[in-house]
Amino acid sequence: MRGPMIIDSHVHLKHGDTLRTEYDAETIVRVMEKVGIDKSVVFAMSTTTQRSIEMTRAAVERFPDRLIPYVYALPSYERPILEQIEWAVSTLGFKGIKIHAGECSLAEYVIDPVIDLAGRLGVPCLIDCMGRYDAIERMAKAFPETKIIVAHMGKYLCIDERLIDRFITLALTHHNLFLDVSGVVMPWKIQEAVQRLGADRVIFGTDGPHGKPDVVTYARLELEKIRMLNLSPEDEAAVLGGSIARLLGYG
Ligand SMILES: [Zn+2]
Repeated sequence: MRGPMIIDSHVHLKHGDTLRTEYDAETIVRVMEKVGIDKSVVFAMSTTTQRSIEMTRAAVERFPDRLIPYVYALPSYERPILEQIEWAVSTLGFKGIKIHAGECSLAEYVIDPVIDLAGRLGVPCLIDCMGRYDAIERMAKAFPETKIIVAHMGKYLCIDERLIDRFITLALTHHNLFLDVSGVVMPWKIQEAVQRLGADRVIFGTDGPHGKPDVVTYARLELEKIRMLNLSPEDEAAVLGGSIARLLGYG
């Protein structure tokens, strides 16, 4: 018997690490098969919006049933990116927008047109804000129609419990906020988020592929991180796939 659908909501075709590591669609799908992940949200960063669309489109064309495309929003001197994002979503069927504060300012005069467009197009923004609580609070307030997925529950590999608590509390007031659990190294905070917000606001992702110790073990450990929380079967199913499926309009 098959269990509920498992969706990894945070997978890189191209990472933001110093080497700008790329993984091809074949590797991503091979890991998914070994680990038991049904679908993955894929995107590229450390490149232009245009190139992110090309890379992601090619990957999803190879595995349309397994991979879900997000477009990377990065302001450019070359091309108007709002038009490109709109084209990716409306014409190519991209399902969300990725934003990374390491490459794109979250200042209102830079990012707000993208957040506004996401709300109008009805697609979520997955934002790595690098711990910038104030920026998320401002966007959540200013754009209640835009669904914002806060990557890493606020900050990658964060060991500051109070900072993560602030993001959970912020999501209590702003129902357009969702928390991505990739790169979370205090798993009990995931449990607390489920208790305080409900499982439909908490979203599984691996931030993979990652080569340490190897791509398959990395993904397996991330999945295990959720399963060892002893959530109710309903809550676990929501975190591992149901919440993001609903957000993206699947099932
Ligand atoms: Zn990431």
